[in-house]
Amino acid sequence: MSEPLVIVGNGMAAARLVDELAKTALGRYAIAVIGDEPRLAYNRVLLSAVLAGDTASHDIELRPADWWRDRGVTLKYGCAVTEIDVGRRELKIANDESIAFSKLVLATGSMPLRLNVPGAELKGVNTFRDSRDVDLLLTLAAARKRVVVIGGGLLGLEAAYGLAKAGASVTLVHLMDRLMERQLDAPAAALLKSLVEAKGIEILLNANTARIIGENRVEGVELSEGRRIAANAVIFAAGIRPNVVLAREAGIAVNRGIIVDDRLQTGVFDIFALGECAEHRGICYGLVEPAYEQARILAQHLAGRTAAYQGSVVATNLKVSGVSVFSAGDFLGGEQSESIVLSDVKRGTYKKLVIADGRLNGAVLVGDVADALWYLELIRAGGAVARIRKDMMFGRTAATLAEAA
Ligand SMILES: Cc1cc2nc3c(=O)[nH]c(=O)nc-3n(C[C@H](O)[C@H](O)[C@H](O)COP(=O)(O)OP(=O)(O)OC[C@H]3O[C@@H](n4cnc5c(N)ncnc54)[C@H](O)[C@@H]3O)c2cc1C
Repeated sequence: MSEPLVIVGNGMAAARLVDELAKTALGRYAIAVIGDEPRLAYNRVLLSAVLAGDTASHDIELRPADWWRDRGVTLKYGCAVTEIDVGRRELKIANDESIAFSKLVLATGSMPLRLNVPGAELKGVNTFRDSRDVDLLLTLAAARKRVVVIGGGLLGLEAAYGLAKAGASVTLVHLMDRLMERQLDAPAAALLKSLVEAKGIEILLNANTARIIGENRVEGVELSEGRRIAANAVIFAAGIRPNVVLAREAGIAVNRGIIVDDRLQTGVFDIFALGECAEHRGICYGLVEPAYEQARILAQHLAGRTAAYQGSVVATNLKVSGVSVFSAGDFLGGEQSESIVLSDVKRGTYKKLVIADGRLNGAVLVGDVADALWYLELIRAGGAVARIRKDMMFGRTAATLAEAA
């Protein structure tokens, strides 16, 4: 008889895990997936495209219903798991049902952070995490509302761009002195700012939100320097927190995320975690690629093979507010490294390569990202770049031709 394997969360990591299990351990497990969002698993990354009107919401489903059925997966969506009984190997679901497991995988993702400021609970304060949020943001934009987006990272920029494109009037406020400070150096961030402003979005840097103004619903935002920005709605896009509540309440060890070892096993035998809710070697990843790598390793392990997750080298390679941006490795550089920079603000292009010990250590690209994956390969390979150093700034083709000459 197949062993009952239950996955909590029906997001991107869960869907990939089932995909990998179908390849490696078909028939070994009776798989059940329980998710609290009221729809089939979808590509969360594409929510930005849905908001920007480039894709329809129903087109972002990862797999159709019959794909799950054909693999014998029991799907329960629209219901949250409320408790893990570790001793009895049983889960409680919000509708009072219980479900037994032999192996359990937690894939509960993250929660958007809400700033702890007065007014944060007012009507009209929203987040940008799931497809229900997108429906709400599109309603705001269609009514041409004034919206303040709090947070100048990837999510904030995507929310601001989508809202503005759909008709809202948008101000983005960011606490730091530059946009996307965890991915971009100062010149790259300045170029991105000017390209985003050119799309009609107002950007305020060094802007600390003191409170959200309003009686019953949002009327504006007040910054700590006293400035007030009128608004009908506020979107928090100021970070995420791994969703660890279930694990913590069950006595499973958590730090910022649910602590897992190299097999993605938590502190409890045969209970695993992956994706944004997991913390591996002190790192909680907020991107989808590490979740996919973890799914591959966990599927191998569940299939009885030897596999160990060693961590991921993350790169940012995205279109942010319609502008192509790439960053990877140590993109800031330091005293022990040197940088090669090409900046053409008029063409909207900035490139910086950081070299240390004769190896490419990091890169930032804005505008022209055609060679991003090649730079990422060079960073990951960690080989000497002396032979292509002179030409590598001009891309793979130029460097390969020069090397062959
Ligand atoms: C708008 C947006 C744009 C993004 N863009 C990018 C990008 O360009 N590149 C990139 O790499 N990453 C991007 N990300 C991040 C990426 O989407 C996540 O890294 C990825 O979805 C993580 O997968 P996950 O399965 O761990 O979590 P999720 O996809 O969040 O899935 C977790 C699921 O678990 C459910 N759940 C939680 N608790 C329970 C419970 N108790 N019971 C049942 N179900 C539960 C949640 O409702 C959710 O459906 C973006 C995210 C957003 C929101």
